[in-house]
Formats: sequence, C-alpha cells, structure tokens
Amino acid sequence: MKTQQISGSLYIVATPIGNLNDISQRMQDTLASVDLLACEDTRHTGRLLAHLGIKAKLTSYHKENEQQKSVYLLEKLSEGIDIALVSDAGTPGISDPGAVLVQGARQQGIPVVAIPGPSALATALSVSGLQKSGFYFGGFPEARTGKRIKKLKKMRRFSCPLVFYEAPHRIQATLKDCLHVFGDRQAQLFRELTKRHEEHFSGSLSKLIELTSGKVRGELVLIIHGPPEIREEQPENLEELILWYRDTKKTSLKDAVQLISKDLDLQRSKVYSQALSIWKS
Ligand code: SAM
Repeated sequence: MKTQQISGSLYIVATPIGNLNDISQRMQDTLASVDLLACEDTRHTGRLLAHLGIKAKLTSYHKENEQQKSVYLLEKLSEGIDIALVSDAGTPGISDPGAVLVQGARQQGIPVVAIPGPSALATALSVSGLQKSGFYFGGFPEARTGKRIKKLKKMRRFSCPLVFYEAPHRIQATLKDCLHVFGDRQAQLFRELTKRHEEHFSGSLSKLIELTSGKVRGELVLIIHGPPEIREEQPENLEELILWYRDTKKTSLKDAVQLISKDLDLQRSKVYSQALSIWKS
C-alpha cells in the first residue's frame, strides 16, 4: 500500500545459498509485488523466478555496472517505482554488489527495506559452535599471495575468530598463507552449505591443508579461530612488549627479539636496538 510517499522503496532481498526450501514467504511476496527487480545475472535469477512461478521485470546490477546502474535505479525509485535487489545467492551487499545503490537511496531519503534471509557468513557461524560473540569478517582474501599475506598479517593480533569466503581453486594457497601468518591455529572449513554435498571440516590449519590437498569443489567458508588466550594478554606496543617478554615470559633477549619482530612485523635489527637499550634498565 502506498502512503503519501512519492518515491518508491528499495527492497534488499536475500535469496537461498543452495537449498530452495530456504525461500521465505516475505521474499516471494516482495519479488512478486515490485515493479522492477535488479539482479546480478538475469538468467540465474530468471531460473529462481521460474521455480517460484513469479513473473517480474528484470534488470542487471552487478560489480561492473554498479555505479552507472545505481544512477538509473535511483532515478526510477524517485519516480515512485518499487525496486527489489537480489544477488545470485545470499544477502546482497555481503561480498556482493548492493552498497552503492543503498548508499544512494539513503542519501536521497528513499526508504530501504531489508527482506532478510540466508547468508553463507551467518550460516557457517551458526554451525561453528564458536562461543565468543565477536568475529571479524574478511570477505574474500586477496587473490595474490603477496597482498594476501600482507593483509592477513594485519589480523594476526585480532583475538576474535576470522571468517573468510574463498574460491575452491585458491583454498590451498590461502590455508598455507594462513599457516605461515597465524601459526597452526584451529580452523573450520564449510563446503556447500545447505546443499546435498554439504561438508564441515575442522582441525588445525595444517590438517585442513592435508584434507583439501585433492581437488576441492564448491563454495567455501573458512573460519580461523582466535589465537590461544595467553597471546591476548600481550601488550601491543614495542616497549611494553619488550618488558613483557623480559619480566613475564622470562625469555632471553635473542628470543624476545625474534618473537617481537614476528608479532609486530618489524625488522629484527630495529627491534634489537630498542630491546638492547631497554633490556638492561
Ligand atoms: N552475499 C552472499 C552471502 O550473503 O552469503 C555471498 C556472496 S559471495 C560472492 C559468494 C561466496 O560466498 C562463495 O564464494 C562462498 O565463499 C560463499 N558461499 C556462498 N554460498 C555458499 C554455500 N552454500 N556454502 C559455502 N559457502 C558459500
């Protein structure tokens, strides 16, 4: 029902990540009632609509045309047209296009309505059994190993679990880089969630590398557990860390320098010269 509002509404609609029984009534009602449906791939969404018996006018909205297509869609919304946005699977805007359009709508005072539903992120976390409430979602790790390692290093001191999406052809390389950066932490890998061949793997990173050494297919969510508790007590700045290794951990100067340069990703010579002056104080 339209009230006095002049513009249309933008509906952000989540769709199943594999199992079509995860379609909600509200999602169907929304897709059936909007004037225009923006989707990543019109053929893919066309198949979903055919399954639901819904006829809708489709237009493409994907990573490559997100900027210019948002201008067009915002114009339509401001003319009073109701638009729904879906991605190929899961929740739009989560490692999927959507943010540009939503931001534009918000700036123009156009109502943005969430029609929540599946997301691989929430699905994996819900069956992970992790007890801590916080987590860090890293989306897809960088494709190139150098950049990937650099980004992962920034997460080394996060005490919460890290969640990533990853493509099957990159999972081995990513797991190996994670092992290099985080050490042999506990981790979980979720494959093909909600689908017929769904699998859950857990164990140390080195075990996961072993388990995925053959050809891995399908869609994957990787969760890397936080570091062991003791590391959370570690101070974060160089001076305090030097004193912590000396007074609490009672390590040798040489070991402290080695560990700190790894922890803080600093050159050993830089850490050594600072540690030397503090060590004898
Ligand atoms: N927006 C989507 C969401 O909310 O889940 C994610 C889109 S992102 C482009 C696609 C990635 O999500 C896949 O490469 C995979 O890492 C993860 N993913 C999607 N469906 C999955 C599934 N059924 N099982 C495991 N991972 C899945």
